[in-house]
Amino acid sequence: MLQRIQFSDLHLGKELGKAIEDMGFEEPSPIQALAIPLIQAGRDVTAQAQTGTGKTAAFGIPIIGRIDPSRRSVQAIVLCPTRELAIQIAEEFSNLLAHMPRISVLPVYGGQPIERQLRALQAGVHIVIGTPGRVMDHLDRRTLRLEDVETVVLDEADQMLDMGFRDDIELILRKVPQKRQTLLFSATMPKPILEISRQFQNKPEFVRVEYAELTVPQIEQSYIEVREREKLDVLCRLIDLADPNLAIIFCNTKRRAEELSTKVRARGYRADELHGDMKQSQRDRVMGGFRKGIIDILIATDVAARGIDVDDVDMVINYDIPQDVEYYVHRIGRTGRAGRSGRAISFVTPKDFTKLREIMHYAKIQIPRMPVPTQSDVA
Ligand code: ADP
Ligand code: MG
Repeated sequence: MLQRIQFSDLHLGKELGKAIEDMGFEEPSPIQALAIPLIQAGRDVTAQAQTGTGKTAAFGIPIIGRIDPSRRSVQAIVLCPTRELAIQIAEEFSNLLAHMPRISVLPVYGGQPIERQLRALQAGVHIVIGTPGRVMDHLDRRTLRLEDVETVVLDEADQMLDMGFRDDIELILRKVPQKRQTLLFSATMPKPILEISRQFQNKPEFVRVEYAELTVPQIEQSYIEVREREKLDVLCRLIDLADPNLAIIFCNTKRRAEELSTKVRARGYRADELHGDMKQSQRDRVMGGFRKGIIDILIATDVAARGIDVDDVDMVINYDIPQDVEYYVHRIGRTGRAGRSGRAISFVTPKDFTKLREIMHYAKIQIPRMPVPTQSDVA
């Protein structure tokens, strides 16, 4: 078998190598092994891999490697869909830059006073991580200049399109020199993404990591046969039994997530919900509570949960079986992160069996059935 590329093969320089070691990364993840050499070679790259596979460092490592700290200008910009992600990505960059204090990174997103960002930008920033709306805002005010940018990343491109950022992205890209490297990262590759690629990339190289090749999931998967009206009881029993540290429960609609959240709280659990219609400030509050363990059960819809990166989630429950098979893979990818172990349990009602078979076929996995926990199991 071919041996996978190691970080030491990538000629990263002492400081970056040390930071990667400090971060506990032993070897490149599959998507990193594929994408980093291409990006280092200056190619435009479109990369597809599910959440939690290390896409941030896949572009972060080669971008940092080509920043010239003596030039006081923005040389790389990463666009991402939400404030939360902007902060997360900037944190990962900061960790990678731990031993390179001359290179600076700044997240710019809505909701934070623009003055603080203005001051930071004036002081000189090499890498900007931003949401399209706020980046546009800075461009309009001429407080952000992109004429020295050499690399643009569209991260979570599928979600940015879902959120209606297409026009902003186009306007922003027009302000970046034609002669640039354009990188596109996404968990899924629907047609609109391929169109973006065609329009903005130059002879892109496509790399993709299939679910079956992932090293990440140490996720124990199973399903439970239930009837719709038993779901709530079974859920509570499962939680009592497994006593998860942090759990995410998935529902198929916002309405069901809200209803379930209310019921679960009424039974005394520390739960809250996250769905697509929430304001950013509400999302931040809920996610903050979840990260800190003030709430330990997050009830979420698919759209709301995309891109969330919380390391300690040890249980995912599909209260409703996902309608789209790709969602299954995304959902269970919320647990077993950063090499930890996790469990994923799906509730399957009699009418859900076709879907379950489809998921097993698609993901090339056998999901075993587990018995319904009974009250005496809990006691
Ligand atoms: P994605 O963007 O694909 O969803 P992230 O970039 O957020 O994934 O990475 C998920 C987690 O894996 C992060 O906590 C990150 O620090 C960690 N990680 C990334 N690359 C590696 C690696 N090579 N080895 C170990 N952990 C890694
Ligand atoms: Mg990501």
